[in-house]
Amino acid sequence: MPHRTHAIVTDKEKCIGCVTCSMACPTKAIRVRSKLAEVDDELCIDCGTCMEVCRYDAMRPRTSSPADLKRFKYTVALPSLTLYAQFGKEFHPGQALHALRKIGFDETYDISWMCEMVMGATDAYLSESTGPWPKISVTCPALLRLVQIRYPDLIPHLVPIETPRELAAKLRRRRVAAEKGLDPAEIGMFFITPCTAIIHSIVAPVGLEASHLDGAFSIADLYGPLLKSMKEDPGSDPVDTVSVRGLRWAMAGGEISGMRNANSMTVRGLHDVIYVFDRIEAGTFSSVDFIEAYICPDGCVSGGLTVAGRYTAQRNLQEAYRLLGDQTLVKEEKVRSLLREHFFDFEAEIKARPVRPLARDLREAIALKREKDALMERLPRKDCAACGAPDCETLADDIVRGKAQLSDCVFVRLEALEKEKSAEQGGDHD
Ligand code: SF4
Ligand code: SF4
Repeated sequence: MPHRTHAIVTDKEKCIGCVTCSMACPTKAIRVRSKLAEVDDELCIDCGTCMEVCRYDAMRPRTSSPADLKRFKYTVALPSLTLYAQFGKEFHPGQALHALRKIGFDETYDISWMCEMVMGATDAYLSESTGPWPKISVTCPALLRLVQIRYPDLIPHLVPIETPRELAAKLRRRRVAAEKGLDPAEIGMFFITPCTAIIHSIVAPVGLEASHLDGAFSIADLYGPLLKSMKEDPGSDPVDTVSVRGLRWAMAGGEISGMRNANSMTVRGLHDVIYVFDRIEAGTFSSVDFIEAYICPDGCVSGGLTVAGRYTAQRNLQEAYRLLGDQTLVKEEKVRSLLREHFFDFEAEIKARPVRPLARDLREAIALKREKDALMERLPRKDCAACGAPDCETLADDIVRGKAQLSDCVFVRLEALEKEKSAEQGGDHD
């Protein structure tokens, strides 16, 4: 298994060990030790929740830096469609693309048409697939990791079609290399990302041997320079290559809105995803063919590295649709021919990555489970997180795995102190 490096890093200078992130993490991946939040690679799905809840700005994404651009002879920026939704109605996608070049990229590449292509490819795949149903979209990388960790039985439900960002990067790198006479390795492909999960999908891709992207800049980091550039230079790249059908991909519901298969549904937010996936796993949810699901509540427009806020972003996108008209760029025959060439296919198998069991040996696992239950009797069940684990059950789990001690619990320590004190007082009376 490749080494995982999650997309979020804790700033040692800023973290005060308040445990807010540990309590908020949906996969219980954070422990606070010696007043520092530590993220467990095995459990983290890179959803970005910890970064959003930290009031001390102590969690930051591992984004690319301007120095990374210098490693390449030619650089291409591929903006998430969510970037277009960050600016008010006075700005349109062509200006954002133009501004990206002004701030340092050699070229920009709009991926909306590739989103439209993938909608067509998914339709074709669904019409030929024999199940298992429902099929599940692989757009959201945090969701993909959740499936690997918590729902490995759902891997056969994943639609084996690569994401538009990876496909666009693969295609454009090839073409730039041919057009400019460059070695493909001399071209840097950078995604402008709305979330941390995509950063991690570049470092440790799923369904690919290696990402076709070389790094990612956060929308939040580029927002200021881009807005400044757009105000100073009102130039615009052509927008006739921007697909409005593809542009809808930025919002939850957008992927299925451009598909012909009507028996599809959108599931938003981690809580609802777990609700639906539990039922699919239990075999009690089979009424739809395709599920588009996002860990973030409104899809990519609500990603943690955005600026506009999800409601404003959705309004801005509606404005862009109105401005551009109903541009549909993709011909069905083109999609079918690329499908025949296996252009959209995953390049590697998606493997389960279940969290380590307590022990491989069944007898040992049962003994450790008993030990854990006994520990739960000793712990106060207050889930205060003062020990650094998010709740008492997680502390008990950590103790049996040898990663923590019972004395990490402040209540257990207090109890021990009180016993010691009363023993001493009893001794004084003798
Ligand atoms: S929320 Fe987490 S990262 Fe932020 S200060 Fe508290 S413990 Fe540290
Ligand atoms: S990114 Fe999400 S899963 Fe990973 S540590 Fe932060 S809150 Fe937990």
